[in-house]
Amino acid sequence: MSDLPPSTPLQPPKKVFVKTYGCQMNVYDSGRMVDTLAPKGWESVETPEGADLVILNTCHIREKAAEKVFTELGRLREHQANRAAQGGRMMIAVAGCVAQAEGAELARRAGNVDIVVGPQAYHRLPDLLARVEAMPGRKAARLVDTDFPVESKFDALPEEASARGASAFLAIQEGCDKFCTFCVVPYTRGAEFSRPAADVLAEARRLVAGGSIELTLLGQNVNAWHGDGPDGRAWSFGRLLRAVAEIPGLDRLRYTTSHPLEVDDELIAAHRDVGVLMPFLHLPVQSGSDRILAAMNRRHTAEHYRRVVGRLREARPDLALSSDFIVGFPGESEEDFEATLALVREVGFPQAFSFKYSPRPGTPAAEVKEGVVPEVVKADRLARLQALLGRQMAEFNASMVGRRMPVLLDRPGKRPGQRLGRSPYMQPVHLDAPESLDGRIVDVIIEGAGPIALAGRLADGERTAA
Ligand code: SAM
Ligand code: SF4
Repeated sequence: MSDLPPSTPLQPPKKVFVKTYGCQMNVYDSGRMVDTLAPKGWESVETPEGADLVILNTCHIREKAAEKVFTELGRLREHQANRAAQGGRMMIAVAGCVAQAEGAELARRAGNVDIVVGPQAYHRLPDLLARVEAMPGRKAARLVDTDFPVESKFDALPEEASARGASAFLAIQEGCDKFCTFCVVPYTRGAEFSRPAADVLAEARRLVAGGSIELTLLGQNVNAWHGDGPDGRAWSFGRLLRAVAEIPGLDRLRYTTSHPLEVDDELIAAHRDVGVLMPFLHLPVQSGSDRILAAMNRRHTAEHYRRVVGRLREARPDLALSSDFIVGFPGESEEDFEATLALVREVGFPQAFSFKYSPRPGTPAAEVKEGVVPEVVKADRLARLQALLGRQMAEFNASMVGRRMPVLLDRPGKRPGQRLGRSPYMQPVHLDAPESLDGRIVDVIIEGAGPIALAGRLADGERTAA
C-alpha cells in the first residue's frame, strides 16, 4: 500500500541524458550533475531520444571544441522537434569549459539552448531548470550562469545518488594558478581550490561503501592539493593519499593529473610505502626543451623532470609513466623537438598523449605571431613523436607476456564470454571470464600483447572464486 494520499498524482521520473566530452574531471562532473537532479525526480538515460533534458558537458582544451558543440546542437534539433510533436519539451543545457569560455556567444548563436552553466556553477542546475520550466512559452530560455560563486559547489552538492561502479573518480582539487601560456584551464575552471580532507575522506568512504574498489583522485593539478586534516594539522597531498589508502575495502588508488613542480618528498615517500597506490603515474612534461618549457611558463626544466622521475623510480622501481606532449609550440625549432625525442627515449613512456599545439583564444601563446610552426611541420613532428611513443608502448606491453598480474574486470569485452579489465599499469586486458567476476580483481596470466591492449586467461583457481 502506498503512503501517498489518493489525490497525489504519481509523477513519472523526468529523463536527463548527459553527453560528456574531454577529461576525467568532466566525467566526474557529469555524475555530480545527475546527483543534483536526482532529488528533484530526474533519472539518467543512455540516449537523447525522449529525454526531457540533454546536458552537453563540454571541453575547450583544443580547437574546434565550440564547433563540435554547435554540430551536436544541430543534431539535437530533430530530437527536440520529435519531443515537441509528442506534446513534450526537450530542454538543452550546455555545461563545462566551452560554456564557461563562450557562454554569451553560445546563448546568442544557438537558438535551441535553454541553459549555459559553467563548471563552478552546476550545483545551481535544479534552480536554473525550475526557472526554465516556469517559462513554457519561450522557445529557448537562455539562462547563463558562468559565475565563479563564492560558495564552493562542493558544499552545495548532495551525496552521490547512485553507486559509481568498481572504479570511481573523486575530485579533490580544482582550478589552476599555473598559467601555462598555451592553456585555457585557469580561465575556464578558475583559481586553485583544494577540498577539505574531511570532505574528501567522507566521499571516498561513501564510494567504497557503495562498491568501488578503485578510486582515482582528480584535479587539474591534483598534487597541488593541500589542506587542513581532520587532526587539525596542515596536510600535504602525500598525507591525504595515506589516509585514503587506509579505507577498508579499497584495493587500488590512483590520481591524475600531476604537475612536476608539485612532486614533494612526502608524495615520493607515499609511492614507496602505500601498497594500494598503483605503480602508474601520469606526469605531463609537454616538451624536452628548456627554451620551450620557459616559453610555455612551465617553470621547470627538462632536467628537473628527469630528477623527479629518478626519485620516484628509486621509491617505486616498477613505476610506469605516462605524459602529455605538445609539438609545434610557437618558436619550436627542429633542435627543440629533438630534445623532446631525447627525453622520451631516456625516460621511456609506456603510455602518453601527444598533441599539435592549438592556439586557444585568450591565452598568451595565442597572441604570439613570430615563430608560428606551419601545420605540415607540426603534423610531421607529431607523427615522429607518436611513432616513438607507440614503439615504447608496444615494447612495454610485450614485456608483460608470461606474467601473472591482477586485473580489475569492469566491462564486457567484444566477444560473448569475454570481459575487459585494467592492469595496475592501466593497460586494457581482454580475457574469457564469467560476468559474475565483474567488479573484482582477478589474477590473469598474460598470453599476448598488442600495440595497445593485452590478452590473457584467468589464473588457476580464479574461476572457482566466482
Ligand atoms: N594540468 C595538466 C598539466 O599541467 O599537465 C594538464 C591539463 S590539460 C587538461 C591536458 C593536456 O592538454 C595538457 O597537458 C596539454 O598537453 C594539452 N593541451 C592543453 N592546452 C593545449 C593547447 N593549447 N594545444 C595543444 N594541447 C594542449
Ligand atoms: Fe593548464 Fe598548465 Fe594549469 Fe595544467 S598546469 S591546467 S597545463 S595551466
